[in-house]
Amino acid sequence: MKIVMVDLQAQYRRLRSEIDEAMQEVLHSAQFIRGPQVKEFSDALSRYLHGAYAVPCGNGTDALQIALMALDLQPDDEVILPAFTYAAAAEVTHLLRLQPRFVDAGEDFNIDVAKIEEAVTSKTKAIIPVHHFGQTSKMDAILNMAQKHNLFVIEDNAQSLGADYFSAEGARKAGTIGDIGTTSFFPTKNLACFGDGGAMITQNQELAKKLAMIANHGQQKKYYHEIIGVNSRLDTLQAAVLKTKLQYLDDFNHRRRTAADQYDFRLKEISEIKLPVRNAHSSHVFHQYVIQTEKRDALQKFLADNEIPSMIYYPLPLPFQPAYQNARYKKGRFPRAEKLSAAVLSLPIHTEMNEAMVDYICDAIVKFFKTKS
Ligand SMILES: *Cc1c(COP(=O)(O)O)cnc(C)c1O
Repeated sequence: MKIVMVDLQAQYRRLRSEIDEAMQEVLHSAQFIRGPQVKEFSDALSRYLHGAYAVPCGNGTDALQIALMALDLQPDDEVILPAFTYAAAAEVTHLLRLQPRFVDAGEDFNIDVAKIEEAVTSKTKAIIPVHHFGQTSKMDAILNMAQKHNLFVIEDNAQSLGADYFSAEGARKAGTIGDIGTTSFFPTKNLACFGDGGAMITQNQELAKKLAMIANHGQQKKYYHEIIGVNSRLDTLQAAVLKTKLQYLDDFNHRRRTAADQYDFRLKEISEIKLPVRNAHSSHVFHQYVIQTEKRDALQKFLADNEIPSMIYYPLPLPFQPAYQNARYKKGRFPRAEKLSAAVLSLPIHTEMNEAMVDYICDAIVKFFKTKS
């Protein structure tokens, strides 16, 4: 059986007629930049997110940069970030001459809310919780902390679009809870286009205007530049693809969750594997299915020998990356992030996964632990 991490080819084959038609429309109109599909998509995304403003841009990293630019932070202001995460948030923080303050991971792979306060100083102005692998961070605790210390909250929602966050206020969509949410439509994300794409999300109309302006060279009126901006656009072709696929996002996420449930069921008997924690405060859209095991490297090799791919997200916590370290951090400073980096393994999960595939992968994993234990 042929197993891949993410089956983009099979998903395209299944949705081909609709997607081709949407793309053909753009090709015939030749409005490749700022065509009507861009607004149609952002309006549809806004409706999907219960009415929050959605501002499209070039990719998920730009979305984070533009979000930070819109908050008018000053050089050396501090931004709190998870230690265990993808590079994007730390990268744009440094680019804007802001200072990252890293916080260790919790059980659920997201920022450990119990450790945020000790990272706050008089210079801290913002926090970027990253909603890892498909479920939200503990937003109530984060919002309380933000209110207490007057911090902006930017949710990096590149991996959890469509997840619901449950609190006393009811269910809210991931990415619509903080001041700004950001997301990515990179081809392997839960809602994905055929290249790069991204968006910023906010409940605040003024902020939405400012985000759109920054993404468009700081102008509202052409050739009149009010603030410093960047060039970060979602192409019309990508918007046409996304508009078509957005209708299937809940179904995509359901398919991922079904595969995750089957993994849980098959792997729960293996004492040497820790299954992904599922938070009660969030639904899970399983961007990744991440197990932990002390035999991670040997398991990955065994799977590879059996032509089953797997990935390590993330192999080195950000504070220890040569590009971001401020020389302050010693080994052992982020115990959970360091432990996770040595133990996590992402198994194949995608919208075209079927029971036979999950069984095939789990049979191999069971066999590994039977023979190596
Ligand atoms: C994918 C991703 C990004 C960056 O998105 P791009 O569109 O590739 O720039 C940022 N943060 C997280 C957590 C991601 O997974």
